[in-house]
Amino acid sequence: MECLFQDSHIHIQDIKSLESITRFIQDAKTSGWGRFFNCAITPADWPIIKAMAEKDAALVPFFGIHPWFSDLADEKSFQQLEAYLSIPGAFAGEMGPDKARKNIDFSLQKDIFTRQLLLAKKFKKPFTVHCVRAWEETISLIKSHAPDLRFLTHSFNGSHEIAQEIQLMGGFFSVSIKEFIRDENPFKSVFKILPSNRILLETDFPYQVKWTTPQEYIKTVHKGYEIAASWRDCDTDTFIKGVYDNGTIFTHGTSDR
Ligand SMILES: [Zn+2]
Repeated sequence: MECLFQDSHIHIQDIKSLESITRFIQDAKTSGWGRFFNCAITPADWPIIKAMAEKDAALVPFFGIHPWFSDLADEKSFQQLEAYLSIPGAFAGEMGPDKARKNIDFSLQKDIFTRQLLLAKKFKKPFTVHCVRAWEETISLIKSHAPDLRFLTHSFNGSHEIAQEIQLMGGFFSVSIKEFIRDENPFKSVFKILPSNRILLETDFPYQVKWTTPQEYIKTVHKGYEIAASWRDCDTDTFIKGVYDNGTIFTHGTSDR
């Protein structure tokens, strides 16, 4: 059985040095990586992410404005974002509201999220949601503006109730590798019963967990996948393949392509 690893939320462009980026991608691919969902944070990322995706189809491009940078979004950036989202094979995000980020006005964050939802809807693009302590607002904005689009919740570690709500909305759960390398994790009881056709695994590299080398990233992701599979009482290879197929369904709507 062919099983390829997938990282459903990463910011490869933020490794910064082109040489390190090339080495990182090469090493990961040699170790069985098939695909990265490479997410933008600011408008400055968009041309870099586009160029990376054109060079290597494994770097699936996501164009959006992260809530921490909501104040960077002006009319010109929305015009540009519209052009980026019209590209075939491009997706939307990361975007969403973050209540922990107090220095960025919350109503501005919701506004910028809404405008991105409307653009995702215009081009029928699945999107990546960043939500911190704002599930009520996130769920209500998605339901109002883009109820029929596939979406994934980045770094999901919410409650049973939120998980159920997202499941009913057709959302995917992108869970951070760091959840599986913690000792005692109350999220384990939620992860155990997430629907198996909606699970994705991510790192948010180079953020959240600070890994210094590609080898360390590869080792940690391998370990994370193994522990995640054991939490699901699933054979590791079957789990890895299932997660990859979920990524294909997220991007293409079917696992056949
Ligand atoms: Zn991120």
